[in-house]
Amino acid sequence: MSETRVALVTGANKGIGYEIARQLGAVGDIAVLVGARDVEKGRAAAARLGAVPVQLDVTDEASVAAAKWIEQEYGRLDILVNNAGILAERGEPPSATALEVVRRTYETNVFGVVAVTNAMLPLLRRAPAARIVNVSSGLGSLTLRTTPGHPYHGRAMLAYTSSKSALNAVTVAYAAELRDTRIKVNAADPGYCATDLNGHSGPRTPAQGATAAVRLATLDQSGPTGGFFDEDGVVPW
Ligand code: NAP
Repeated sequence: MSETRVALVTGANKGIGYEIARQLGAVGDIAVLVGARDVEKGRAAAARLGAVPVQLDVTDEASVAAAKWIEQEYGRLDILVNNAGILAERGEPPSATALEVVRRTYETNVFGVVAVTNAMLPLLRRAPAARIVNVSSGLGSLTLRTTPGHPYHGRAMLAYTSSKSALNAVTVAYAAELRDTRIKVNAADPGYCATDLNGHSGPRTPAQGATAAVRLATLDQSGPTGGFFDEDGVVPW
């Protein structure tokens, strides 16, 4: 086993995931695997980062193949950042949101995280102190969405917001299962960042959005597990 930690970031060919990969690479002792569903986009991003591309569509069986490949190449995985996510709706109210949109959103934002986590868990268990970070959203916070006056209060986006609330619940569930191990599982809120996901409408940069996930991915053993954090601290569930 080498001393270098091995990190996989899903959806790392652009946006916040690319920045998470870049910032993890800058730590110095982390070999970064750039997960991308499109082989060419993954290769191009990895080449720019000096990282290694891994073909991985979180909605198909690719995660199993990717885990086998990581096992052969590295024997373990120290950091998994479940970043890949989609926003498939516009401003329509819940009652006008097509069920297909809700299903498609959950396939990536929730079921994809479960599939990748389960595929990678045997490798994460082999690392001395693995970290799992689920890239959630403040829009998944039921507290913020029901706090009058908060910018997220009453926002539409049924599929996206509920998928991130579900992802928060998934985070808590894995943290509970792994509580007696050295593996820590947390959810990160990047804040509202300018990326393709939202037509570059956010005021923050992807680099700013990446910092919370990077911090959680590199927590020391005294750090928390089963929590939800942005760069300033705890985000309410
Ligand atoms: P983005 O620029 O659209 O990037 C999304 C990434 O996910 C892309 O690499 C995309 O790949 C990938 N992806 C989508 N579906 C995938 C699949 N089935 N398998 C593998 N990869 C897939 O969006 P972003 O803003 O950086 O979003 C990254 C994460 O941050 C998401 O989970 C999002 O919900 C979360 N987030 C974003 C904001 C924000 O303001 N931007 C705020 C809170 C949370 P392709 O290039 O192939 O499409």
